[in-house]
Amino acid sequence: MPHDVAAIADTMRGRRTLVVTGAGISTAAGVPDYRNTGAPERRSIEYEDFVLHEIWYRYLWWRNEMSWTLLEHVSPTAGHRALARLEEAGLVIGIATQNVDRLHTQAGSRRVAELHGTFDAVVCLHCGARFTRAHMSEMIHAANPGLEFPAPPLANLEILAAKDEDAARRNPITVPACPRCDGMLKPDVVFFGEPLPKAPVRAASAMAGSCDVVLTVGTSLAVSTGMWVVMQAMENGAQLAVANRGPTEADRLADLIVDAEADELLVALADSLLEDPP
Ligand SMILES: [Zn+2]
Repeated sequence: MPHDVAAIADTMRGRRTLVVTGAGISTAAGVPDYRNTGAPERRSIEYEDFVLHEIWYRYLWWRNEMSWTLLEHVSPTAGHRALARLEEAGLVIGIATQNVDRLHTQAGSRRVAELHGTFDAVVCLHCGARFTRAHMSEMIHAANPGLEFPAPPLANLEILAAKDEDAARRNPITVPACPRCDGMLKPDVVFFGEPLPKAPVRAASAMAGSCDVVLTVGTSLAVSTGMWVVMQAMENGAQLAVANRGPTEADRLADLIVDAEADELLVALADSLLEDPP
């Protein structure tokens, strides 16, 4: 039952919408998905690998530093900016995202539940200290004088590195320890095998409990996190609108389905719902 953008705009008009976003909203900015590509030979380093095996701990940080160099320069898309405008106008109450790229916040969205964490922060597994990824980068460079971190092409960006034994054995990096307690440091993104962070889960739950409409954009919902938010909102009586290129896990539950690129859809929605587009 394909619908058009006007039908979604009509559903959102004068109501409170929670938007659930996935990798599809960031692909126009060049950011590939990090947990959903799924080919078994390219399996990501999992939480247990990372905390128990030094070889994977060091390799993840080596690859993470290269990716950071890239991701630091990625900018929000027209779709991210359209969502910020819709929130400003009170039509969108917030965003629950599976993305870790911080592009919603950079675009001006204020209420963003980052369910898979954020690439922009680092956390100590021992004392809980949290600091910026930029600071981690400074510490990595200080601990590895002269070592270069050649950035891969953006299309090959890996938020969590795939397990590559040969490359891991050749990895030259010295990983700095927590400046406060000397503990192990972890990018503040959710690894496979790791529970979701509590604060964004609570925030998403609260928004799911107070929205009239839940709109999913740029996610097949194959990752269960987004689906969990959708189910919470629907149990609360929200209508479901689904916008994605291709089918999603929620199609059978949806009141409205639009096959569209995230950017195209969100810009059209903002133009249709807001009187004075900039
Ligand atoms: Zn610490």
